[in-house]
Amino acid sequence: MEWFYIIAASLFVVGLKMLSSPETARHGNLVSAVGMLLAIVATLQGRMSFSWIMAGFLIGSAAGAISAYRVKMTAMPEMVALFNGFGGLASLLVGWAEYHMHRTPPTFTTASIYLAVLIGGVTFTGSVLAFAKLSELVPGKPVLFRGQQVINALLLAGAVWFGVLFTIAPEAHYTILIFGVIISLVLGILSVLPIGGADMPVVICLLNSYSGLAAAAAGFVLANDMMIVAGSLVGASGIILCQIMCKAMNRSMAHVLFSGFGSAASAPAEAGTKGEVKSISPQDAYFALEAARSVVIVPGYGMAVAQAQHVVKELADHLEANGTEVKYAIHPVAGRMPGHMNVLLAEADVSYDQLVEMDTINPAMPTMDVAIVIGANDVVNPAAREDKSSPIYGMPIINVDRAHTAFVLKRSMAPGFAGVENPLFFNENTRMIFGDAKQTLQAIVTEFKAT
Ligand code: NDP
Repeated sequence: MEWFYIIAASLFVVGLKMLSSPETARHGNLVSAVGMLLAIVATLQGRMSFSWIMAGFLIGSAAGAISAYRVKMTAMPEMVALFNGFGGLASLLVGWAEYHMHRTPPTFTTASIYLAVLIGGVTFTGSVLAFAKLSELVPGKPVLFRGQQVINALLLAGAVWFGVLFTIAPEAHYTILIFGVIISLVLGILSVLPIGGADMPVVICLLNSYSGLAAAAAGFVLANDMMIVAGSLVGASGIILCQIMCKAMNRSMAHVLFSGFGSAASAPAEAGTKGEVKSISPQDAYFALEAARSVVIVPGYGMAVAQAQHVVKELADHLEANGTEVKYAIHPVAGRMPGHMNVLLAEADVSYDQLVEMDTINPAMPTMDVAIVIGANDVVNPAAREDKSSPIYGMPIINVDRAHTAFVLKRSMAPGFAGVENPLFFNENTRMIFGDAKQTLQAIVTEFKAT
């Protein structure tokens, strides 16, 4: 069995490494999945009959495959939140069940049981609330109230105190374990309540990391090396992803967790939205694009909603055939999940060489004839650079306002995910092209085809 575990753990590490590049990500996912299958079979071998293993495998795989097949790309963060929650709940139940089976486990196992229950509980309710916020079952805004942080701190201190009591004398303190469960469930809700808006992706990653830590604790409970390794990998990679996302939004983790994005505590961004909105037709846009020597395409969440990636590629092909240099500028938090734009553009066969990161494209932006913003909003909002009162102030953006001309493709003047008005739309060199992004792009492509 140890050999199976070593191979499975190696497959996890190789798979994770492959996930770091769009070229190898799909295979990386498969490699990790094979590792997980190996780990499950190796763990259950000898403990239960093969038919039970197959039954669990088929039911689990069917549920996973159906939900992965049916979920819309734009609803991926909700699904990840829900999966994190189930992971946390599983760890909580493992800890609780182990306590029932051995009322006087060794001290280390007792501490692990408490940790699995505590972290699992926080992950479960936190993730369910994050799911409800993202899928708009409850209002997504941050909820802040007086004394919130004090209550959270007291609950945490209580959880630690109960943990110590339980670890010292587990057989005498079943009620304390129950209190631990209740505190963890309440703490999960209270810690996600003050988070909202553009900070939600970070909290999903954090909960993902918690679910890994809970699984690692459950691994110590069961003395299962594989769970410890897999849980630690999830815990560590979740934290690293959180840090990358915080850096991309120029926010500290503490700020994300406690400040309440876009809440009353942060002043609303109204400055800089003076000026006239100039809208043009796709036909007018065609004339400008036909004459452009360099074009940068900046995709955002709206491209995913419109499923416009294929027609984006078609437009780029026409531009290139016309002698125009085309690049795609990718913001790290564009869309609704890390790498969202990369995945969509890869699906449309856009060459990886043409994808340029924000830090690389920004210095070149003043030399670009046209920047085409396709359903992006927050990630191109100059208020993040210039308006200190804006809730997104400090978040690095793609400086499309510095290109000679910016075309913004969206359906209305509605704000983006962060709910913040965008002064870009009122700029002298901005032209709005209202409508569904796919239809607008198709109309421009039709003009190219007609010539
Ligand atoms: P935004 O959410 O800021 O804006 C998207 C824009 O797309 C909207 O203003 C909307 O305007 C437009 N849109 C929607 N549907 C269509 C359509 N069919 N055709 C054309 N336009 C459309 O997106 P960004 O990508 O700029 O920013 C991402 C935001 O999401 C950031 O705030 C980020 O923090 C957050 N986030 C990021 C995650 C990640 O990991 N990448 C995860 C979760 C959130 P209109 O309605 O007028 O058409």
